[in-house]
Amino acid sequence: MTGLIRVWKELDLQDIEKNLIVVGELSSECFACHKIGIDLHSIQCPGCGIYFKYVGFRRRVQAGYLKKLKDQHPQLLFIDFEDFKKSLGKRDARKLLDI
Ligand SMILES: [Zn+2]
Repeated sequence: MTGLIRVWKELDLQDIEKNLIVVGELSSECFACHKIGIDLHSIQCPGCGIYFKYVGFRRRVQAGYLKKLKDQHPQLLFIDFEDFKKSLGKRDARKLLDI
């Protein structure tokens, strides 16, 4: 039997930035070009043409919903959008300090 368990893993922030679809209350957005209104089931951004590898959520989602989405899109890596934003913030702060 399997279950969806959140895992902490080091990931390439740049890769996520370039290949992330962000699911909101009403619509989804491409993180790379910020096109909104993307069908959640799209594998490619209609705006910039990138292929989605990661999906993040602006809202809390139920495990049942995630499971259904995972079954429909096994190629997607589900990330915690808050974690991602925090990591981006830390990286950007470090960049500022390096200058
Ligand atoms: Zn795009």
